[in-house]
Amino acid sequence: MELSRRKLLAGVAAVGAASFIPARANTPEGAGETTKHELPKLLYGYDALEPYIDARTMELHHSKHHSAYVAGLNAAEKQLAAARASGDFGQIQHLSRQAAFHGGGHFLHSLFWRVMAPAGKGGGGEPQGDLSQKIIRDFGSFSAFQKQFSAAAAGVEGSGWAILHYRRADKRLLVLQAENQQKLSAWGIEPLLAIDVWEHAYYLKYQNKRNDYIAAWWNVVNWPEVARNLETAMK
Ligand code: MN
Repeated sequence: MELSRRKLLAGVAAVGAASFIPARANTPEGAGETTKHELPKLLYGYDALEPYIDARTMELHHSKHHSAYVAGLNAAEKQLAAARASGDFGQIQHLSRQAAFHGGGHFLHSLFWRVMAPAGKGGGGEPQGDLSQKIIRDFGSFSAFQKQFSAAAAGVEGSGWAILHYRRADKRLLVLQAENQQKLSAWGIEPLLAIDVWEHAYYLKYQNKRNDYIAAWWNVVNWPEVARNLETAMK
């Protein structure tokens, strides 16, 4: 997963989201270096994904929820550095869990914002080129892929994500669920496209109708960005 996160970070930097390039945090003497993670700026306004995702949801989701994951990740990594400096690893299980949960939250949300764009202005339609060919090769058709991805998203138990990945070992695409931000994942895979199905992602507009939110979300999927993620993952 660590390799995967670094690649994701590199991918983000490559498309010019300069605000996402992390600064170095001050860590205690002898603890090694850590990153000061920052909330990435959105490349569109909070109301840009209307009517599919409402502005209020976007604002809360980005400025409050994602922001809390960034703070949680920084705190966990700072405490791990303090533990290294002091040699006291009494909280290692808790801190490792916090780092995985908030780290998963930070990087999945950073991906989530980038793989969406206003409908008709980069968002919606179907993938083209190599991405389209690989989807057809590995899922049978775009429609079959879309059905599996939607079903995975709808079927997440409680809070979580559906994620399209590229698996380096056999160069195939696969769809997995993630519970919370980090459970049910696999290794050696690069996330290319993700939908957040935590209630905070849709409840204000769609209430309990997660399926309606998922159906609407396809209208704002930024396929060119997903294709760039695939290109980066294949390098
Ligand atoms: Mn979320």
